[in-house]
Amino acid sequence: MQPTAELLRRLPKTDLHLHLDGSLRPETILALASQRGIDLPADSVEGLRPIVEVGLECRSLEEYLRVFDITLPLLQDAEALSRATYELAEDVHRENVLYAEIRYSPLLHRDQGMSMDEVVFAVESGLQRARHRFGIRCGQILCGIRHISPEASLELAECAVRWKDRGVVGFDLAGAERDYPAKEHREAFYLVQNNNVNITIHAGEAFGPASIHQALHYCGARRIGHGVRLVEDQDLLDYVNDHRIPLELCPTSNVQTKAVPDFASHPLKRFMDLGLRVTLNTDNRLISATNSTQEFQRAVDTFGLSMEEVVELAVAGFKSAFLPLPERVRLLDEVFEQLHALGIPYGQEISRRRRIAL
Ligand SMILES: [Zn+2]
Repeated sequence: MQPTAELLRRLPKTDLHLHLDGSLRPETILALASQRGIDLPADSVEGLRPIVEVGLECRSLEEYLRVFDITLPLLQDAEALSRATYELAEDVHRENVLYAEIRYSPLLHRDQGMSMDEVVFAVESGLQRARHRFGIRCGQILCGIRHISPEASLELAECAVRWKDRGVVGFDLAGAERDYPAKEHREAFYLVQNNNVNITIHAGEAFGPASIHQALHYCGARRIGHGVRLVEDQDLLDYVNDHRIPLELCPTSNVQTKAVPDFASHPLKRFMDLGLRVTLNTDNRLISATNSTQEFQRAVDTFGLSMEEVVELAVAGFKSAFLPLPERVRLLDEVFEQLHALGIPYGQEISRRRRIAL
């Protein structure tokens, strides 16, 4: 059985690494700007696309990050945050993403005086509407920012603890990886860890394995955002593999930000062959001009993945969800039912090595 475009579209999927402020619809950018009297560099979807969608010829991480200068000023009030979140959940639902974790930093949405709790509440209201309307499972991940102060991260950590079990499913650290080591924020991570909040950290994207090491051993990360540079440290790679620590891979974004030079050089397949728990994600649907189906298609086109490997990738996403175990099991039951209905063989054909790796 070949992983056709139609099967990839209908495949039950997750998106565990998905930034709210990098995943707006172009139409919504125009609408929010016009309602709020904010100037944009273009006044039509056609004019806006080449500015906010960074192509594969993107020259640097800096060029990639510049798009946030356009989206963030639009997301400074409750209505805008709730709308953007709801629409993003709708977009992922349309391509059969059954579970999504939407991340953003409340620290960056306070320009008009909203408190962090008001920001989280606004996003949660968008998620609630989406859960109700589409039946999608979704949660929030709050991101500390490396180049903002450790004190701000601690304040945000306290907010994450307040919202635990009320929509916030995890805590992250994003932002400039080079020169801003995760361990400087360890007080924030100590607090969330002690309150049993899940931790994922962007690491091994713009900086080497030392960054992944800190994320795991100083900050208690249970998943790693990107982690592509794990290939440079075999011992750490073995540790990540032995402990089944999921990697949130985002190949299109990794090529655009120059974390890897091109798709063929991406370690996704190498990681899978080693048995690592690898998940496939979009990072920024707007800026990367991508979606989950396309990420699967690119992985199939680049590495010639078999249907079995495609299913392994999809299932790893569900296994890595920041959900209580009974909920994850229920969700996986639903996934297996959908796979069965699609006629995708799963289970009996899987080799012993893969069964163990899963
Ligand atoms: Zn990211």
